[in-house]
Amino acid sequence: MSAIDSLPPLREVIATHQLSARKSLGQNFLLDLNLTAKIARQAGDLTGCDVLEIGPGPGGLTRGLLAEGARRVLAVEKDSRCLPALQEIADAYPGRFDVINGDALEIDPLAYLTPPIRIAANLPYNVGTELLVRWLTPKEWPPFWQSLTLMFQREVAERIVALPGSKAYGRLAILAQWRADARIVLSLPPGAFTPPPKVSSAVVHLDALPEPRFPADAAILSRVVATAFNQRRKMLRSSLKGVSPAIEDHLNAAGIPPTERAEQVSLEAFCALARELAKA
Ligand code: SAM
Repeated sequence: MSAIDSLPPLREVIATHQLSARKSLGQNFLLDLNLTAKIARQAGDLTGCDVLEIGPGPGGLTRGLLAEGARRVLAVEKDSRCLPALQEIADAYPGRFDVINGDALEIDPLAYLTPPIRIAANLPYNVGTELLVRWLTPKEWPPFWQSLTLMFQREVAERIVALPGSKAYGRLAILAQWRADARIVLSLPPGAFTPPPKVSSAVVHLDALPEPRFPADAAILSRVVATAFNQRRKMLRSSLKGVSPAIEDHLNAAGIPPTERAEQVSLEAFCALARELAKA
């Protein structure tokens, strides 16, 4: 029996189901259930919430989420080898846990969820960033989720909460802070994972704002910041040339000096530029 439920410890689960970690799937497992319960607590009050978990693996974070009182957890896992281990969790929490075997980048799990919905995940870095951007850039706001609690490489977590003028400031900071309150809530050394990754990790918690901090069209803002930070050392009048032939006029109308570099431009100013471009 484990520290938080009546199921076997995770090392035993991994040995029983022969879940050797696969690098191709970004598998670095969390095996300490006290730690996964601590991460689950960062997701806020889970009672009365459906939780969407991406990449449950052998189920450490899943068990944390269920032990912390989630009404229901729906997980999307690509690796079918994990399904028997996850079935044992479903059996221990009848009616509270379901798994979809598939790629989270391909599947839309919304039809299987009932609001309020929180999202929690310990995912490979590239999948996590791609999903984060998708969750932050739907056309309409508020989104289907209330909060996101996501593990990232420490460096990526810092990019999400970065402020203008810093090296980490860029597209992720702008998209995250435009529509959410984002903060780093936990730092984890490589040794917290099995096998240990090369770098440190951090959990970022984002609460969706009822409305974006400043009005802007999501697609235009996304395109502008992606283009501006792609050539972050260039002046905006030159890095954004491809966005509009009259970019200098739009920058001036948004109150941004055309000679400014992306790194120095506030979220508010980028939103003003997106509004100017929408008028054109
Ligand atoms: N959540 C578990 C934990 O904390 O121990 C496993 C974390 S491991 C870093 C990432 C998990 O995501 C693996 O189980 C992997 O198979 C799964 N995964 C990787 N790519 C995925 C994808 N595109 N869609 C769904 N799951 C994916």
